Amino acid sequence: MLFCNSLRPKLTLSATRTFSCLVQSKAFINGNWINASTNETFEVINPANGRIVGSVPNMNVNDAVQAVQAAKNAFEQSEWSKFTAKERSSLLKKWFNLIEKNGNEISEIMSAESGKPINEARGEVAYGNAFIEWFAEEARRIYGDIIPSAAKDREIIVLKQPLGVAALITPWNFPLAMITRKAGAALAAGCTIVIKPAEDTPLTALALVKLAEEAGFPDGVINIVTTNNAAPIGDLFCKSPDVRGISFTGSTEVGKWLFRNSSDGIKRISLELGGNAPFIVFNTANLEKAVDAAIASKFRNCGQTCVSANRFFLQDEIHNKFIDLLKQKVEALKVGDGSKQDVQIGPLINSMQFNKVSSYVEDARSKGGKILFGGRPLEDLGKLFYSPTIISNVPSNAKLYSEEIFGPVVSIVKFKTEEEVIRAANNSRRGLAGYFFSENIQQVFRVARLLEVGMVGVNEGLISAAEAPFGGVKESGIGREGSHHGIDEYVEIKYICMGNLKY
Ligand code: ADP
Repeated sequence: MLFCNSLRPKLTLSATRTFSCLVQSKAFINGNWINASTNETFEVINPANGRIVGSVPNMNVNDAVQAVQAAKNAFEQSEWSKFTAKERSSLLKKWFNLIEKNGNEISEIMSAESGKPINEARGEVAYGNAFIEWFAEEARRIYGDIIPSAAKDREIIVLKQPLGVAALITPWNFPLAMITRKAGAALAAGCTIVIKPAEDTPLTALALVKLAEEAGFPDGVINIVTTNNAAPIGDLFCKSPDVRGISFTGSTEVGKWLFRNSSDGIKRISLELGGNAPFIVFNTANLEKAVDAAIASKFRNCGQTCVSANRFFLQDEIHNKFIDLLKQKVEALKVGDGSKQDVQIGPLINSMQFNKVSSYVEDARSKGGKILFGGRPLEDLGKLFYSPTIISNVPSNAKLYSEEIFGPVVSIVKFKTEEEVIRAANNSRRGLAGYFFSENIQQVFRVARLLEVGMVGVNEGLISAAEAPFGGVKESGIGREGSHHGIDEYVEIKYICMGNLKY
């Protein structure tokens, strides 16, 4: 294989398989695969069985300074700064093709380090790679304007120019797509990047960068820093004048910290934070469709998705019927080690998540919530497995109602009127996604406009796509990713006034 590196240890994916060559044990700065300056490393663990999947450099702020410097030099001095839009597009296309070609191997790495079922991991590779393809196409359409001037001797010209160095901080729940969604747009715009992947899932990120190296991006254009101590590096990104933009996907708490901390440098910031998505089923809904969508929206990635349905609001007439149908499907879900083909739900990512989900369920139960299915750990499978769970009668003072669950728990509330449910749905400081099911066209348009969220699924539970703008309102974030809007996060608008023209 192209990437075989004799120094790389053979890493075990499961009892019967070994990884091939995309597993990296070094980080990548200025075109070189390197160790941390301290030579420290940290281990990557498979959450399904606690086995070590790999080990990567535990870099510190000095290493990150090198990465930022490399990205700055590449932006200002390397051939990259002179690349045409078409050349950037071609490189992105090469990267896309390589990711596609190596999709199976990347899926295996992702499934092993995140616990995600292998079929979902394959789906994420296709979904995530669609951003590289999309932005390869968009790279050639970053148009400016010529605006009619009020003065006879002037032309108003507007250009879009790349920001400079962009720092991309990504979470573990979509180890590939959260990188490609940012990196595709940044590179299409002409920025250079420093990626800081999540400590739980650095191997997928490194594999992606390995393929970018093969695609031929010039040295310093793409850098990646791995660490299990993110805060000092986040601080550097916030404070360094050489970093012109930060794009972050992760917790609201860290997002707020980055926002505050980068304010001094008036830095471009794009934040994709947590949600608290309502999933409303009206009496007019097609219940079969609604139940299928509920399963897809709730249980994908074991519920560890920021757009996952968080609060299920069921209208009084269909409440019991919906629960019956849902229960039948939830009972049939197969939980287990994600490397097995038929498994639909894997483990939670780590013990912090596991404890959070367990404690939220206990909290709801103690406040009057009624467990209809699950509501307990699945110890026989491993330490981090939690049963798919359905709880009804969830009171509004339960954490399940007001906080993002990030686990396989359907939390149900009954409602009577449309007005009441809109008020309840919007009574949240977050506003990422919202879903509702109705066959009444008047209601569809009305409710879609009234929900205070950045994305609405109408009779649909999975809404993310490379072509569509992803992002939230309120405390769910700033900016959009994907679609042609995604490029805006990485460009500056420059106005050129051509004066004293004689026509
Ligand atoms: P989660 O709770 O889902 O792990 P986090 O917001 O903690 O979400 O993590 C998302 C990403 O942000 C990860 O890459 C993590 O390492 C990184 N991160 C966490 N804290 C900081 C910080 N203070 N500065 C920069 N990045 C951080």
